[in-house]
Formats: sequence, C-alpha cells, structure tokens
Amino acid sequence: MGVILCKHCAEIIGTFDSEKVTTYYSDCQEPDCLETRKNPNNQQ
Ligand SMILES: [Zn+2]
Repeated sequence: MGVILCKHCAEIIGTFDSEKVTTYYSDCQEPDCLETRKNPNNQQ
C-alpha cells in the first residue's frame, strides 16, 4: 500500500495500491495548512 502525505503538515491525504510500501508527498487542502503556507514566518 502506498500513502500520500502532506509535505507541509504530514497529514495523510490519501492511499493507493502499491506492491510495496511507498510514500509520496503532496499538498493537502486543509485551511490551517494553507494558512501556514501563506505565512511561513508564523511557523514555530
Ligand atoms: Zn497540509
């Protein structure tokens, strides 16, 4: 099984069939995460 994680907040965005464990990184659409991306200086 493969899993897609948000590269910003590490939230699981989705999964897909895969012969071995695979991890991809992408962007989620969570409002909190989008705000964090717009304001990088606010990250702790
Ligand atoms: Zn995110």
